Amino acid sequence: MAAKKWVYYFGDGKAEGTGEMKELLGGKGAGLAEMTNLDISVPPGFTITTEACVEYYRRKKTYPPGMWEQAMQALRRVERSMGTKFGDPANPLLVSVRSGARASMPGMMDTVLNVGLNERTVRGLALKTRNERFAQDSYRRFVTMYGSIVLGIERERFEDILKRQKVTRGVTHDTELDAKDLQDLVVQFKELVRHETGRDFPEDPFDQLRMAVNAVFSSWYGKRAIEYRRIYNIPDTWGTAVNVVAMVFGNMGETSGTGVCFTRDPASGEPRLFGEFLLNAQGEDVVAGIRTPQPVSALAKSLPKAYKELETTYHRLEEHYRDMLDLEFTIQEGKLYMLQTRVGKRTGIAAVRIAVDLVKEGLISKAEAVLRVGPEQLSQYLYPIFDPKAESEHQAIGRGLPAGPGAAAGKIALTPDRAVEMRARGERVILVRQETSPDDIHGMNAAAGFLTARGGMTSHAAVVARQMGKVCVAGCEAVDVQSATTVKIGPHMFKEGDSLSINGSTGQVYKDDLPVVESEVIQVIQGKLAPNKSEKYRLFATLLGWADDVRRLKVRANADIPEQAMIARGFGAEGIGLCRTEHMFFAEDRIPIMQQMILARTREDRERYLAQLLPLQKDDFLGLYRQMQGYPVTIRLLDPPLHEFLPKREELMVEIAKLELMGTNPAQVEEKRRLLARVEELHEFNPMLGLRGCRLGITMPEITRMQTRAIMEAACVIAKEGKKIVPEIMIPLVGMVSEMKAQKDLIREVAEETMTRVGVKLHYLVGTMIELPRAAVTARQIAQEAEFFSFGTNDLTQTTYGFSRDDAAKFVGYYRAHDILDSDPFAVLDREGVGAMMRMAITEGRATRPDIKLGICGEHGGDPSSIEFCHQLGLDYVSCSPYRVPIARLAAAQAALQESRADAFSTRSSVSKRPTPGRRTRARRRR
Ligand code: PEP
Ligand code: MG
Repeated sequence: MAAKKWVYYFGDGKAEGTGEMKELLGGKGAGLAEMTNLDISVPPGFTITTEACVEYYRRKKTYPPGMWEQAMQALRRVERSMGTKFGDPANPLLVSVRSGARASMPGMMDTVLNVGLNERTVRGLALKTRNERFAQDSYRRFVTMYGSIVLGIERERFEDILKRQKVTRGVTHDTELDAKDLQDLVVQFKELVRHETGRDFPEDPFDQLRMAVNAVFSSWYGKRAIEYRRIYNIPDTWGTAVNVVAMVFGNMGETSGTGVCFTRDPASGEPRLFGEFLLNAQGEDVVAGIRTPQPVSALAKSLPKAYKELETTYHRLEEHYRDMLDLEFTIQEGKLYMLQTRVGKRTGIAAVRIAVDLVKEGLISKAEAVLRVGPEQLSQYLYPIFDPKAESEHQAIGRGLPAGPGAAAGKIALTPDRAVEMRARGERVILVRQETSPDDIHGMNAAAGFLTARGGMTSHAAVVARQMGKVCVAGCEAVDVQSATTVKIGPHMFKEGDSLSINGSTGQVYKDDLPVVESEVIQVIQGKLAPNKSEKYRLFATLLGWADDVRRLKVRANADIPEQAMIARGFGAEGIGLCRTEHMFFAEDRIPIMQQMILARTREDRERYLAQLLPLQKDDFLGLYRQMQGYPVTIRLLDPPLHEFLPKREELMVEIAKLELMGTNPAQVEEKRRLLARVEELHEFNPMLGLRGCRLGITMPEITRMQTRAIMEAACVIAKEGKKIVPEIMIPLVGMVSEMKAQKDLIREVAEETMTRVGVKLHYLVGTMIELPRAAVTARQIAQEAEFFSFGTNDLTQTTYGFSRDDAAKFVGYYRAHDILDSDPFAVLDREGVGAMMRMAITEGRATRPDIKLGICGEHGGDPSSIEFCHQLGLDYVSCSPYRVPIARLAAAQAALQESRADAFSTRSSVSKRPTPGRRTRARRRR
């Protein structure tokens, strides 16, 4: 039986793979294959598949049968294409060995360049290129990379030797070392290797290649790759591909160079070639941020022919991929080679602009544009900026590259570990580093922003910032990290913990903690900025307008006060899906009345205090109705356990003890004692399952009466003004139809009485939240009384799992780390369990009342994956926090588009009468 195909060759205008084969060839391998097929100048090479990596681990780190033989055959083809021979001292072929997973994991895995160099081939290289310095430079780089990546010797050890050599030679730059110096370095490096490993540096090129491939496979399970996968939810099972590519050299002198660029600005989306390059350098110099590179536009002057070719190539590639791309290139003695292309990572700001521009340019449709932007990315439009007045009054103390937009102010941390500790103490952290490396990932995750001394727009710090949505200023030359606790920025010395502000949109760095204000979009929504004055707002609104054209789910907001409702409307909310009325009682002027009401012993007393709350509640509702301008407003009756409105037992005891000690105010002591007694009386062992939800309104009907009156009186005011209003009164935590009926009858009675009294007739709905498994199971009966269901998935998750929503964080992290849970069910709706409850409630509810209105108002209503599920369930709307409304609009549109794509797919495949994975997936989802 023929061995499985583990290796895919590309070269001379033809590749065995294609751009579609990312899963098998990894992103880099697929890109190289695609470019080769497009006849773009790419050095020949081959890709060892991700499946080979998975198999390598399955076979306890041995190659699957046939893999190495196939690699050797492909290597022969590379030799033929290049006219050189691997290991040939007279005419050596050198190769790069690079990782390449399905999803890009910048800097997380390893690369070894110049594989194939040894004492003999280095001489051949020097002779062939007539460039002794170049050959020795390549060799010392190879020994460093191989020594650190394959043999595991700390890179700094090599760097230290290099530094000493420069001091001895009295030079500052690597490029000033001559061939002899570099040769000396190789000798010293090899001594280091012998000392550290007890063995000579490997001379056999085939051993080198084999060990480099092993090292790339192994880097898949490197610490930083594992951490990265954890943060970005990339499965361990994917594995990485290995790309072995003929070396082309950017370090062959001043007509050579290497660079990385984006076809559009990855921070703003502006359509221009954007990136950086270094003359006389190899790829790692740019990405590692060791030398600060020049902008790619400068290439037009230094190597105009190559620059022209780069321009033509990038336009061709953009048109082919119909997207913004991230490119790596090398120029060897004036000739351009492309080494990588992939869809470029971008900020949310850029994502929207690029999507809108590509539609204008006719490259993609509006539907594709909607699918191109990750819903969460939209939140970057809402990022705060520095207060313009405060910023103009501050002199920048340094300026770097605007690598991650937004404004961040906080305390300086100089090591990633400290950043994590400071964040854990609740501080806002700015991580300041000479340059970041993948090992810093935990600190970067903890920080609000990063500032680096070295590196460009594609340095590690910059790439990670844009991906994580963090603020970043990179390559700020004024920064000099002097120790693990001190840094000099310009003339100023800072210690860890000092305040610093960075503007990731302009690159400016300021002393102190500058005040931060709302983004442009927020300012437009708040009416502080005219919409036509903000390009950002225009782009944001355009994309969301296209999203609205295709979505089926309506999007409402969870809002309790008029200001929140105003923001929600500004973001396009089509109603309020949840007004938690208890939040209104926490206001300073209301909490004392609320407490008195709770302390009251008799119904009459309670009614007295409720009467004081009534006009306040009515005003609140009026404000909400006015803001929502005819859109539906769902108001939930009082839900939380009453002790939440009272002071904490322990605090009261301390207060009483203090007052008693002072002995000045016996009346106050008495009052506090009364309060304490009531707090103790109300104490519950399990308040979340205690006297709360509809149980409050049932046992204390006067509360429901007051709230219903306030809701209806306010609605009558609006109706009298001739405006549209349909209040939706929602009963919380119903588990039995009898509870629903008791509350509904009371509500109807008070509503009718209010309307008669005021002389207005209006339509209103009474419905319930579905937050308890029993409610879901008996939804057929509950729907006899309820005119709508709103899924309270916070409580429904709590009660379905039996996880306390207030305590689950203590173990959910552990569960996730140990693969017991894939995600936090309080953040991402659990489709199998909680979702099954919802499905049952929908089926049962519709059996009784086919047109029952269905929504969700738990936190999941703002989570894109949960929104997709709600779309599949056929809900009418999702309701989420005001700031998530744009995210929900986009996510709802994407769910609709994905569904129609899946439908188109399944129609096509049913014509061919073949079961397809697409159909199976859909069927499973719909079950
Ligand atoms: C819920 O339980 O999902 C809900 C929206 O109600 P609350 O969060 O107020 O309990
Ligand atoms: Mg609830």
